[in-house]
Amino acid sequence: MSAPSVVWFRDDLRLADNPALRAAMDRGAPVIALFVLDEESPGVRPLGGASKWWLHHSLASLGERLRERGARLVLRRGPAEHVVTEVVAETGAGAVYWNRRYGRAHRDIDSALKSALREQGLTVESFAASLLHEPWTVTTGSGTHYSVFTPFWRACLALPAPRSPLPEPRELDGADVTVRSDDLDAWSLLPTRPDWAGGLRETWEPGEPAARRQLRHFLTHDLPDYDRARDEPAAGVTSQLSPRLRWGELSPYTVWAEATEVDGSARFLSELGWREFAWHTLYHFPDLATENLRTEFDAFPWPGLDPQQLDAWQHGETGVPLVDAGMRELWHTGFMHNRVRMVTASFLIKNLLIDWRLGEDWFWDTLVDADEASNPFNWQWVAGSGADAAPYFRVFNPELQAKKFDADGVYVARWAADAPTEPIVDLKATRAAALAAYDEVKRAP
Ligand code: FAD
Repeated sequence: MSAPSVVWFRDDLRLADNPALRAAMDRGAPVIALFVLDEESPGVRPLGGASKWWLHHSLASLGERLRERGARLVLRRGPAEHVVTEVVAETGAGAVYWNRRYGRAHRDIDSALKSALREQGLTVESFAASLLHEPWTVTTGSGTHYSVFTPFWRACLALPAPRSPLPEPRELDGADVTVRSDDLDAWSLLPTRPDWAGGLRETWEPGEPAARRQLRHFLTHDLPDYDRARDEPAAGVTSQLSPRLRWGELSPYTVWAEATEVDGSARFLSELGWREFAWHTLYHFPDLATENLRTEFDAFPWPGLDPQQLDAWQHGETGVPLVDAGMRELWHTGFMHNRVRMVTASFLIKNLLIDWRLGEDWFWDTLVDADEASNPFNWQWVAGSGADAAPYFRVFNPELQAKKFDADGVYVARWAADAPTEPIVDLKATRAAALAAYDEVKRAP
């Protein structure tokens, strides 16, 4: 029983409510904490720039917290299947624990490893920790998965309530083995030439302790105004917990448990439901980032790409104030308010007639909360090609959206005061062109 246990950290960079870590402690043997930077396994999507920045700092924080409790975080790089097997061999580990992932490439790696290590006689266990409900447990009466949110969420709410979060360990029995670890700095996750991360540093403090403070602040100060002002980008009442959930600095079980204690949190909790829905959709449609979920959209006649227009959108130079404000907020902070994400995405797809995948790619690179389910799911939702999507013909009018949700112009003034004022396209004419293109989808055999 003294053969150490490996806890393989992935999208769960936390000590609290970490069932894999808990299982290792319960086994009683010394613990080796491992993180593998895998950019090589087939099908694994390389991280975007903003994600790498976050990962660096969150790993630094996790490493320090583990050290304070008596364990060391081992950092290794390479194809995960190979690296984990290697670490097991080097350390003579007797067990490996991890929390589950739901994208296809990750599931393939995990299940191959599980069988191979079990064949060698190791104990290998995986746990539910990143979603409130496992994707295979939420099914319709006829056993299929949901494609519309409202019944999906109703079904989730009818299931047994999510379990209580596990406490954070105070002490860990770190394994006394010499095992090579990379130096975090040598991974070069931070941008250097140029260092574009100044705005990210101003905005965020990655790591579990800051995540917990942010949750508490939100529940005490902002949740009371959430229902009223959640759609107003200048109000600052949404939780901004998405990167915390993306990197697992907070578990959804912790957020759930604490938010359900507060009166009037149902709307906020249903937003966690959208996160679940996106992940369940990815589980059932692994090609969500590249293929239209509704295949009739394959007939959409995307015109040839105008790279200048894409560039203007990316850099907040479209001359449409709310769009430019959003794209500049994104570039500066690695974040954008949900309402503005919808408006900027709609503008790219339906006014510039640029394929949603190019927008999804830009968000993937620039968002600190980019994840392989929520990002393509929401892009397809806006495009009209996704699950429970907005009908294609509903084109957001960025001017009306600004009037409604940024009535005093505070958000636009904050981010786009010096943006161009002449729109690069005519909103009315491009909207009509988008609707005409959509007619072709409808007419396609
Ligand atoms: P809150 O309003 O406080 O909501 C609480 C939590 O619920 C969020 O932190 C998030 O985890 C979850 N959530 C809320 N809305 C959604 C949603 N529509 N889909 C999935 N989860 C949701 N969210 C991401 O986490 N990663 C992405 O890569 C991402 N890409 C997006 C791309 C587009 C085009 C659009 C329109 C939306 C995208 N979203 C994405 C969803 C949403 O915009 C963000 O989750 C939200 O703005 C985060 O802010 P918040 O934490 O203050 O949200």
